[in-house]
Amino acid sequence: MTTSTLRVVNPTTGELITTVPAVGAAEVAAASERAHRVFTSGVWSGLDPRERAAVLLRLAGLMERDAELLARLDSEDAGKPITECRTGDVPGAVESIRWFAEAADKVFGRVAPTGRGSLGVMSREPVGVAAAILPWNYPLAMAAWKVGPALTVGNCLLLKPAEATPRSTLHLAELATEAGLPDGVLTVLTGHGAVTGTALARDPLVRALSFTGSTATGRRILVDAAETNFKRVSLEMGGKSPQILMADALDYGDDLIDNMIEAAFLTMGQNCTAGSRILVHHGIAEEVLHRFTTAAKGLVIGDPADPRTQVGPLIGRAALDRVAAAVDGARSAGALIHTGGLPHGLPAYGAYYPPTVISGAPEGVDALTKELFGPVVTVQTFTAEEEAVRMANASEYGLAASVWTRDLDGALRLARGVEAGVVSVNSYSEGDITTPFGGWKQSGFGGAEKSTDAFAQWTREKTVWIHTR
Ligand code: ADP
Repeated sequence: MTTSTLRVVNPTTGELITTVPAVGAAEVAAASERAHRVFTSGVWSGLDPRERAAVLLRLAGLMERDAELLARLDSEDAGKPITECRTGDVPGAVESIRWFAEAADKVFGRVAPTGRGSLGVMSREPVGVAAAILPWNYPLAMAAWKVGPALTVGNCLLLKPAEATPRSTLHLAELATEAGLPDGVLTVLTGHGAVTGTALARDPLVRALSFTGSTATGRRILVDAAETNFKRVSLEMGGKSPQILMADALDYGDDLIDNMIEAAFLTMGQNCTAGSRILVHHGIAEEVLHRFTTAAKGLVIGDPADPRTQVGPLIGRAALDRVAAAVDGARSAGALIHTGGLPHGLPAYGAYYPPTVISGAPEGVDALTKELFGPVVTVQTFTAEEEAVRMANASEYGLAASVWTRDLDGALRLARGVEAGVVSVNSYSEGDITTPFGGWKQSGFGGAEKSTDAFAQWTREKTVWIHTR
C-alpha cells in the first residue's frame, strides 16, 4: 500500500543511510482505526496503572541497554554531536519514560466540595487515540516526552518522526515491543509532513495531537484540527529567547560564559529554547562580548561522530542559506560580525556554519527578530532594568529566558516581568523533568510537557456525579 519512500540522508556526509516508508493518507486512516480498536479492547487502557508502569519501566531499561545505538542514530540522522546525544538526549529520554511510568499510580483525581446528598468525583481518562508529530532537532528526547505520559495513562499513540530523523523513533518502538507493549499501542508513521502529518492532524479518530516544530506548521495543524474533528492540539514551537545579564553578572565568571555558550550553541542553535538574544548591561558589555566571543571561537567544529566535536553541520542547505542571509543582512545594516570562521578539513557535504556573534545590529533586522535556528546570537545593551524587560518582551515568541544577577530582588522582578514559559535564574535551563515546559505567546499553547502537568495533554477529565439517599 505504501506508494513512496523517504530517503534518510546523513547531513554530514551526504550518504544515504536508509529509506523508510512515506506513509500515505489511507495508511494513516488504517493505523488510527487499528489504534482505536486496540484502545477499545482494553488490552492496554484496561490494565492496572501499575501494570502499564511495569512495561514502560522495562522500556526505560532497554533504552539504557541500547543507549549507545540510540545516541548514534540521532547523531547520524540529525548531525548532532555524538557527545551531546550521549550525555543529554539519550539519558534525558530514558528519564522521561521512567519518570512518567513511576507516576502512573501517583496522580490522583479530585472530589468536589459538595453537600452531604451528593458526591462529585473527577477523574482523568485517556483520550483514546492520540498522535504526536516530532521535530528533527531532539528526535528521541521529544519522542520520549510524548510517549511517556501518553502511554502511561493508557492511550494508543500514533507517532510521526520528522522526515530527517526517523530511526531512533523506530528503534524506540521496537524496544517497546520487546518490553511487552501490546501491538497497536504505539505506531510509528514515517512520512512527509504535508502528507502523513496532515493526515494525522485531520484524522477523525485522533482526539489529541501534540506537536513540536515550527510556528508555521503549528498554525497549519490548528487549522486542520479546526476543520475536522476539533481534536485537542498542543503546540510547542519557536523561540527568540533572551539571556539577560545585569551589571553584576560577571561575578559568575566562567560559569556565566559556559552557560551562555550552551544556551546559544547547543545543537548548533537549532533548539527552540536557544538563548539567541543576549541583553547585557552596558557597564559589562565590552568584557562579556570579548569573553563570550572568545569562547564561541574556541568551540570545536567537526564531524559529529567525533566525541570532541561541539559544533556539527546544520540540518541542511536551506537552513544554512537562511542563517547566512540573516547574518549578511545584519552586516549590511551596519552590525559587527564576530566569528572564528570554519576550520579546514570539514566533511565537504555538511552545511557547516560557524558560531557567530552579532553586535550593534540596528533595530528591525532579521537577526534580532526572526528565529534563525542556527549558531548565531545577537548582543544588545541596556542601562535600566525596565529597558531590559522591554527588550526581552519585544518578540512575538515567549518560550524561555535566563537572568543573571546576584541581586535576588532584581532577579525576581525580571523573572516576573519577562514573558516566557520558563525563566532560569543564574543558569541556562529548562528546569528538569519535574517542572512543566510550555511556551507563551506564539511559542505555543495547549498544555505543558514534562512534570505531572503533562498528563493534562493526554487525558480528559470526567465528572461522576453520585446522588446519595
Ligand atoms: P522544520 O521546518 O524545522 O522542518 P516543521 O515544523 O516543518 O519544522 O517540522 C516538524 C514536524 O512537523 C515534522 O515531523 C514534519 O514532518 C511535520 N510537518 C511539517 N508540515 C506539516 C503539516 N502541514 N502538517 C503536519 N505536520 C507537518
